[in-house]
Amino acid sequence: MKYLSEYRDYDETRRVLDLIDKTVTKTWNIMEVCGGQTHGLVRNGIIDLLPDKVRMIHGPGCPVCVTPVNLIDKAIELLENGVIVCSFGDMIRVPGSKKSLLEAKALGGDLRILYSPLEAVNIAKQNLDREVVFFAVGFETTAPANALSVLHASRNGLKNYSILVSHVLVPPAMEAILDDGFCNIDAFLGAGHVSAIMGYTDYHPLAEKYRIPIVITGFEPLDLVQGILMAVKQLEEGIHVVENQYSRVVKKEGNIKAREVIETVFEIGDREWRGIGNIPNSGYCLKQGFQEYDAELKFGIDHIKIPEDPACIAGLVLKGIKKPKECSEFGKRCTPNNPLGAPMVSSEGACAAYYHFAGATI
Ligand code: SF4
Repeated sequence: MKYLSEYRDYDETRRVLDLIDKTVTKTWNIMEVCGGQTHGLVRNGIIDLLPDKVRMIHGPGCPVCVTPVNLIDKAIELLENGVIVCSFGDMIRVPGSKKSLLEAKALGGDLRILYSPLEAVNIAKQNLDREVVFFAVGFETTAPANALSVLHASRNGLKNYSILVSHVLVPPAMEAILDDGFCNIDAFLGAGHVSAIMGYTDYHPLAEKYRIPIVITGFEPLDLVQGILMAVKQLEEGIHVVENQYSRVVKKEGNIKAREVIETVFEIGDREWRGIGNIPNSGYCLKQGFQEYDAELKFGIDHIKIPEDPACIAGLVLKGIKKPKECSEFGKRCTPNNPLGAPMVSSEGACAAYYHFAGATI
């Protein structure tokens, strides 16, 4: 497939790995922001093939992993009160404080697993006597479709549709990580799919303020090693700029139409990140004028607050301070079949990546 198979060329990937080896002279810590990149690095064995001086730190870029446990409990509360709750499949096994959405469904909750929030709007149209809520989780990548669902509901005059919003934004999370006293990150691989929507101009102030290279990078093996090589070259040359490895997909300005839809429906506000806590201006909230579609306000469930499992160090893993195997519960009390924290259950979670691809080094 054009633009895909050539990025899975293992001979070329090996050649770029050799170039990284020849280029690096000092030890550098590079954080890949996105969970999809973490899986690409671990699944393809790149972590083990990189020179010892290039240390990859796994970042917080898995939307399921950073969705607070209280949001899951809120969705379950709605299910248990007769609301039709619609969700992408990746959220349904994430543990809440007492059960997951899937377990709530097994107990009789009307949970619908969908591929698009627009399907949820259709369900609302067909069930005018029922309330329908879409669990709107994700980074900037899923925000356009979720915003569009609100616009469709509004244009159709639907009063029985709302969204449970947990949208988080990548640049503020990167800034929070850089401001952490334990931060030891020298460069970032930026998440390619987020930049496909948002472009990459927001990264220039970060690169300048923290004097840190940021390379927008794709997800295939060759993408990843090319992005790492670009970051290592900058570090070795003492420069810190934003570069775009993923230019076959990402444009500087992003997807203007998608951004317009987001800006029509959402505004930026504070957001809680699972394991990290509140990060100012790090998420989307519904704008004034669209708040009737905010499920938390509509159903008065804003008060639900749940502490995390104290044994889970997901926050340290998501900030890149600890590796999954440094968690005392890894592979013991916490497995994909019995996850204690979201990074073990999500297909993009760092703990799950290490569990499934056991050859990964610590
Ligand atoms: S292994 Fe499990 S308990 Fe430990 S940090 Fe990961 S998700 Fe949390």
